[in-house]
Amino acid sequence: MRKTIVAGNWKMNKTPSEAKALIEELKPLVTSETSDVVFCVPAIDIPAAIEAAKGSNIAIGAENMYFEESGAYTGEIAPNMLTDLGVKYVILGHSERREYFAETDETVNKKVLKAFEHGITPIVCCGETLAQREQGVTIDFVRQQIKIAFQGVSADQAKTAVIAYEPIWAIGTGKVATTEQAQEVCAAIRACIAEVYDEATAEAIRIQYGGSVSAASAPELFAQPDIDGGLVGGASLKPDFGKIVNYK
Ligand code: PEP
Repeated sequence: MRKTIVAGNWKMNKTPSEAKALIEELKPLVTSETSDVVFCVPAIDIPAAIEAAKGSNIAIGAENMYFEESGAYTGEIAPNMLTDLGVKYVILGHSERREYFAETDETVNKKVLKAFEHGITPIVCCGETLAQREQGVTIDFVRQQIKIAFQGVSADQAKTAVIAYEPIWAIGTGKVATTEQAQEVCAAIRACIAEVYDEATAEAIRIQYGGSVSAASAPELFAQPDIDGGLVGGASLKPDFGKIVNYK
């Protein structure tokens, strides 16, 4: 039985003091026996978020990370800078990073490998554009993204990973994928993992849906057999996030 995982992606929102206040506000709303709860926050907010989340069930994640250990990479964040603060998760390959910061499947793969090396659980994002969906190439495209992202990752590592299926046309648009669309792609991702590894790995890996998830859409989406929770943008900054975590 896979445990549901609901993660918030704050994107470029909230100062450190606002982060502290928001976590204090949401803390009592996101307690859950059945879901793992992760707040992925801007790097500068991490110390405040870790402090504010102390004693709660909230794990703190980063929104990005670099694939080198240290050195002349101005502006980047190294994996041990995250682990030193107590960061447990990192979002990798979000479509906004692919679109605005030139991330590719290959750089995502390097980051995934580096995250595992440091014991950070990657939340590996994939998903198609509207044009790709209309051309009928969604599943081929997403399979390709996953295969490259997981190159060199062992089955034991893959079992602990999280994949977020996020159709780009559904992110921040208020246009949520239908339950059938989301389940179909998440099932295809699980089948791809079974092909690359084995059934046991496919059964263990957790696959989230992301894209305009709300308190209204979460219950049906998260009840699908291949959807193990969600990656939530806009709604993770509001008290509604508590309802999404406690969707049952
Ligand atoms: C996201 O940022 O990963 C996301 C899914 O955003 P939203 O929920 O706002 O669509």
